[in-house]
Amino acid sequence: MFDRFESLIGPSQAEPFAEALRRRPAKSIRPRVDRITHDLPFATEAVPWFPGGLRVTEGSVRPGGYLEYAAGDYYIQDAGSMLPLAMLGIDPDDWVCDLCAAPGGKASAIAERLGTNGFLLANEVIASRLDVLRYALARTGRANFLVSSSDPEDLAVSLAGRFDKVIVDAPCSGQSLVARKQQSQSSFAQNHVEHCAARAMRILQCALQLVRPGGLLVFSTCTFAIQENEAQVAALLEAYPNALSVVSYPELEPWQSPLLAGCYRLWPHRDDCAGGFAAAIALSEPIEPGNSKDPKSNGLKKKAPKKFTREQNTSKRGERNSRDRNKPTSVQPLLELGEFHLHKLIEHHHWLGYEPGAFAFVELFGHRFGHGLQLARIESERIEPYHGLAMLLATLFTPTQGIELDRQDAKNYLVGNAIARSGTSDMRATPWSVARWNGKPLGWSKAASNRWNNYLPAWARFTSFADTPGALTSLEESSAWSSDDEPLA
Ligand code: SAM
Repeated sequence: MFDRFESLIGPSQAEPFAEALRRRPAKSIRPRVDRITHDLPFATEAVPWFPGGLRVTEGSVRPGGYLEYAAGDYYIQDAGSMLPLAMLGIDPDDWVCDLCAAPGGKASAIAERLGTNGFLLANEVIASRLDVLRYALARTGRANFLVSSSDPEDLAVSLAGRFDKVIVDAPCSGQSLVARKQQSQSSFAQNHVEHCAARAMRILQCALQLVRPGGLLVFSTCTFAIQENEAQVAALLEAYPNALSVVSYPELEPWQSPLLAGCYRLWPHRDDCAGGFAAAIALSEPIEPGNSKDPKSNGLKKKAPKKFTREQNTSKRGERNSRDRNKPTSVQPLLELGEFHLHKLIEHHHWLGYEPGAFAFVELFGHRFGHGLQLARIESERIEPYHGLAMLLATLFTPTQGIELDRQDAKNYLVGNAIARSGTSDMRATPWSVARWNGKPLGWSKAASNRWNNYLPAWARFTSFADTPGALTSLEESSAWSSDDEPLA
């Protein structure tokens, strides 16, 4: 099967490549852009193709086992997955669509880099993968996104030409995941590669509809097959010769694919990561699917997309969603939790919060494609704040009450234990308090007579820490969320 790759890596590299596929690649992390990283608990070195990435130098380190990770200081991401991020080049005011977003590695990087007027539509078609996506986005501390679970074809019809940048991190045969045992050797089977290539082409055709003229499509995979990578880019360029061109990145020259200019590849035996592929395609005029020269066109029956400028996207002349406008607007109970510096709070099943860019999208389309950061639910005067609210940046939300935990208590909190509390004198208007470590939010706790009950949702809890072998000394387990609580960020 490696014969197919010899045209790319040369005969002498076939064996090192095969060998690299049998061992786990180096781990890497992407520090959150607003966090200081000089005091990380393990040694790192820079990822050469992405300035925001760090490779963990010690193979035995488990980066997910530290308080710093729990507190959101960094995201664990293969260095190969950072290549498309280097090519996206986020501008603060961009409107970005991540069409295949879960588990949220790239979506969270994008949300962090967008300004408050920017907007991310994080779309994941498989509903069971939405929780992990919302968790990743909540860890950014931002409210500049909406999470949707739409078919790419539906988005292409309704949101044609709306985005400055679209990323398709396509579902693929996943050949680079074999070393991590997340894929089997069958990911190299030709029929599987063909199936994945056809699916990705359908998604790419939709993605092109979403890009505004002058905008950018970034396409990436975590597989090595030429048919799923360069061949897809070549097919698109051939299908839309007047509208599309590849973008070259001089700083990425060392990783240029030998097969097609503007395509970049990472290899596990050469680049000390799982591997990957990425290409960026600039769109100069709207794509009209019916006019494609490519027989693989997805055959969408629709008008050519209108040209949308960034100004039109953010103008207030959108079609307001009447259901949202007619909702009751009693925000009072929510204000007991703290002071909101978000642009808009909206009641829509639950309370939602938006920064200005994301709200501009809601003004245009309401909530038909999904919703943004869920803040809380209020039922019969009873308020329950959501995890994502606790995690918000201080510039977006100042909780009425916070408790600063030491290292040991922070770990106890993160595994789900209640925290001892001395006295009741500090009780404020609300029993809700944000538990923090080193000033960084970890989640909600609620005052009881002698303790802080733990309201960290089960899906956000940790089971162990790298620097605390064995079980943590635990206080009495709190009741935490009831079983009908949705794991929402
Ligand atoms: N971008 C993600 C990240 O950085 O964490 C990883 C995306 S993963 C490689 C591909 C995603 O595409 C999966 O979450 C999968 O559920 C989704 N997917 C599967 N079939 C799809 C389809 N037909 N259309 C769109 N997305 C699909």
